[in-house]
Amino acid sequence: MSSSTPMLRQYHELKQQHPGALLFFRLGDFYELFFDDAVTGAREMEITLTARHKERGDPIPMCGVPHHAASTYIARLVRKGYRVAICEQTEDASQTKKLVRREVVRIITPGTAVDPQLVEARETVYLAAVCGSGERMGAAFLDLSTGSFHATEASGPDPWTRIRSDIESYAPREILFPASLAPLLQSGHNIPRTSPLPLRQNEDARSTEPPSDGSARSEWATFEGTTLTPIDDWLWKEEDCAERLREQFGVLTLEGYGLNGKTEAVRAAGACLRYAHETQRAAAAHISDITYFEAQDHLILDQVTVRNLELVESQAGANRGSSLLSVIDQTVTGMAARLLRSWLLRPSVRRGEIEARLVAVGELHSSQIKRDRVRTLLKDVADLDRLIGRLNMNSAGPRDLNSLMKSLDQVPKVRETLSGSQSSLLQILDENLNELPDVRSLIAKGIADDPPMKMGDGGAIRDGHSAELDELRGISRNAKQTIASLEASERTRSGIGSLRIRYNNVFGYFIEVSKANAARVPDNYERRQTLANAERYSTPELKEWETKVRGAEDRISALEAELFSELCSKISAETRAIQATARALSSLDVLASLAETASRRNYVRPAMHDGDEIEIVDGRHPVIEQTAGEPFIPNDIYLNNSTDRLLIITGPNMGGKSTALRQTAIISILAQMGSFVPAARARLPILDRIWTRVGASDDLARGRSTFMVEMTETAAILHNATARSLVLLDEIGRGTATFDGLSIAWAVAEFLHDSAEHAAKTLFATHYHELTELAERLPGAQNYQITATERDGEVVFLHRLERGRASKSYGIEVARLAGLPPSAIARARDVLARLERYELDVFADEEAKAPAVDEDGLKNAARRVRQKRIAMQATLFDSVNQNLLDELLTVDVESLKPEQALEFLHDIRKRIV
Ligand code: ATP
Repeated sequence: MSSSTPMLRQYHELKQQHPGALLFFRLGDFYELFFDDAVTGAREMEITLTARHKERGDPIPMCGVPHHAASTYIARLVRKGYRVAICEQTEDASQTKKLVRREVVRIITPGTAVDPQLVEARETVYLAAVCGSGERMGAAFLDLSTGSFHATEASGPDPWTRIRSDIESYAPREILFPASLAPLLQSGHNIPRTSPLPLRQNEDARSTEPPSDGSARSEWATFEGTTLTPIDDWLWKEEDCAERLREQFGVLTLEGYGLNGKTEAVRAAGACLRYAHETQRAAAAHISDITYFEAQDHLILDQVTVRNLELVESQAGANRGSSLLSVIDQTVTGMAARLLRSWLLRPSVRRGEIEARLVAVGELHSSQIKRDRVRTLLKDVADLDRLIGRLNMNSAGPRDLNSLMKSLDQVPKVRETLSGSQSSLLQILDENLNELPDVRSLIAKGIADDPPMKMGDGGAIRDGHSAELDELRGISRNAKQTIASLEASERTRSGIGSLRIRYNNVFGYFIEVSKANAARVPDNYERRQTLANAERYSTPELKEWETKVRGAEDRISALEAELFSELCSKISAETRAIQATARALSSLDVLASLAETASRRNYVRPAMHDGDEIEIVDGRHPVIEQTAGEPFIPNDIYLNNSTDRLLIITGPNMGGKSTALRQTAIISILAQMGSFVPAARARLPILDRIWTRVGASDDLARGRSTFMVEMTETAAILHNATARSLVLLDEIGRGTATFDGLSIAWAVAEFLHDSAEHAAKTLFATHYHELTELAERLPGAQNYQITATERDGEVVFLHRLERGRASKSYGIEVARLAGLPPSAIARARDVLARLERYELDVFADEEAKAPAVDEDGLKNAARRVRQKRIAMQATLFDSVNQNLLDELLTVDVESLKPEQALEFLHDIRKRIV
């Protein structure tokens, strides 16, 4: 590599310190990338790759972007998973004759990006860290833009499964891990072989690629789109991490955060914080506390459930179809939108908290005036959570301060609106709202009314704030006027009417006189430049004035920057008070949003209780009722842990089985997040976890077939469900041969019903009508059906859930609606008719012979299934066998030679089906 010039040596030095990042090297008005960074950068930013030192026969690949447009390019790279190190000139080039000093001032990575271009207003970007061993693992999640910080720890036989589920829930953009962890865990050390940690060291600027041998492919796919960043092991020492956290929070012990003895959580949190400091090169004082949590602190919704229930994204894709979040989100600020999302993904399990939210929503629901007023006031509140983050990372601009002031101006009005509230939560929020009059008046006095975007643009500080600044501005402002009067007096003095005072970047101010008048200039004019038809001069007076003006302008920008940073540091001293206010306003916005949704969509307040019953009267699916063209048919659901703990739901395809299942889970989730629910009435227990096994989905990227995915998910449910869980099983066992599937479905249903430890409330939708036998056999199982009827030969879906078992699936009708060719439909009807005829015969026969009353239900059904299989095979294939019989009858046995007879027998045997 060439290091032939001092500048390139400087480049290499900086590059060496940041091997994992693309180095944006500031050269004048451009950021330049060199060598491999240039090749990668040009390709990923779609800009031209050029070369430096071409003439020397030793060309260096190079590409560059103008500094004023850099953020767009950086955003592009970071979105693709790259890290970017920004290297600035840290001294004034005009003040030094030597090579100008350069330093890396910030590193932007996917998990630490805070620029508005990289973080959507309503979306949270998390940086995660994970560490530990096979017995104990910790993880931390930091939203650097707001300072929101969480840590957790898991121990036991398989802590990774638990930690992975948290990672999936927080969906971080970047995960830090100790470099040694990946090989250790991939070798299976103390970690079940099925759960290798998918992390690998990589010195590349980009996220690590999945291993080419496919060894841990299934796990890699979990974190698709996440940048994996290895961090040297020595940086994870517990004591250092704890010290860093204590220092950040200004405390002597971490006990108050619940982190005592949580060594892995402390290590993960410390690593996150260290990385934040290193990348931002700022104290980031807005990271002012941390919340320790454990799995059981929330209603657990794993990734499969979040996806199946379409809580935050429709399965049709983010931009098509609606999710539950999009239907209920009526928040007016970005910070509240993010909070609502986190309430939805991590609903509460604490009855007190749930009730408090419900009471607050109730109050805002019943008083439309209060709700409207609050929402209107909040419309003028900026994203204070992020604003205070920018302020503490030295990236706030003058407009940020103005919007902070305008937002705080709303606080007294919000407090006035909340006064007299009955709800204890609203009262607490009111108490947490700080009016911060000092901050407001600091900004009002310090910042101009309509300040520029960036400090460098000038004019941010209000006139009157600093006497020195006002004077300097006076000088600068008067410059034009002074020039005009100077020009007039020089014209008079010289008698040259066309004399002009002009300015350019190279010579500054000068007097310009045409060639023809050059002889007439006064003696004290000093010639500066000769042009084709003009001469340019200076005078001592002009020089003196210029020094003053230029000095004033330089001083103005320096002083403005100084005053601005003074203001910022005074305001950041109030970080915690502003954060408390921001968080109270966000909660208020979320509660008002839930009240607004409840009012618009006609939701009711659920009654939470400590018992085990789920009782929903006229429940609705909140998304389908909004999006389907037809009116939604409400349904009742009743579940408990004794007589009604397993509901077997049969009914036609497209009848609404899945909908009934999902709406039950969604209503429970809404209630536990503190929302009203789409029903006429609902009595609900506090659930610990919702499990779903819905539909068939291949996960080819993870190398698992449909059936394997289905069984893996089912296994997780059977191992972990509790009496406080709600399990939704939709079409289990459909991915394999009918009888294997039915047997598995049967066994799973029984297991969930019978298991002492894992007996959960279960809704089981199925087309295996045989399973309805279970309800007759098991004391806690009940049969439900979704009704449909036939009218003029066509199926009419009634979408009503009723007790009893369905007799038909109407699969062929649905296939017809879906557009299968008429000939295929006709043939399917024909086959079905034959199958059903046979089935009925078999069943009739069975029932006539069997002592049906005391027969064990399972044996009974198993025999039916066996018979049905024989029947099906006979029906489908008896035409083939009939041909053989015909041949047998027609052959002339008498005339066959022994060897012909033998051959004929062999042939027939081969052809029997
Ligand atoms: P399959 O057995 O084919 O999976 P299913 O019985 O699970 O079908 P769903 O997927 O729940 O049927 O419902 C199919 C469609 O019927 C839904 O997309 C919705 O449009 C409509 N639907 C379901 N339930 C209702 C209801 N209660 N009121 C109105 N429309 C409904």
